[in-house]
Amino acid sequence: MAFIELPELEPDCSNCAALCCVVFAFDKSESFGLDKSAGEECPNLVTDNTCKIFEERVERGFPGCVSYTCFGAGQRVTQDVFGGKSWREEPALKARMGTALSVLRRIHEQLVLLKAARELPLTPEHAAQIQTFEATLCSNDTWSEETLSRFPIDRVASDISNWIRQLRGLVS
Ligand code: SF4
Repeated sequence: MAFIELPELEPDCSNCAALCCVVFAFDKSESFGLDKSAGEECPNLVTDNTCKIFEERVERGFPGCVSYTCFGAGQRVTQDVFGGKSWREEPALKARMGTALSVLRRIHEQLVLLKAARELPLTPEHAAQIQTFEATLCSNDTWSEETLSRFPIDRVASDISNWIRQLRGLVS
């Protein structure tokens, strides 16, 4: 059974406006070395959108930055949803880009789960259900703020979580 072509599910920071370093809040903890509010730029972020402690993030108290992944949603929000714009030129975009990322990241997270499930010894019914979920999650070739805001990610993620439990017996 042929599955649909999925979007890129790996981060491409070179095409992202450093969204994960800006739009989310951090609490000072074992994962992050400082408190930061949503929309505040991390002080380690350089104006070219690189991290000045990138190679030493774990040693400098930011292991959460290493373990975090946007599942490829960051570059898609920047390039597709906002047409390559950045909050650097339009600070008002920070909140809007953060809202879009919070939904599209969850969509991509579900696609990662389903992509892994494709590799299991599926029945035709399982494969058909995966196709249905993937078609729902990829229902917009080009997402917009409006289509993302209307997408029922809570319900879809819950449906996938409930369904995917039945595949546990297929994992060797
Ligand atoms: S420490 Fe580096 S990777 Fe982590 S949020 Fe700050 S700039 Fe981004």
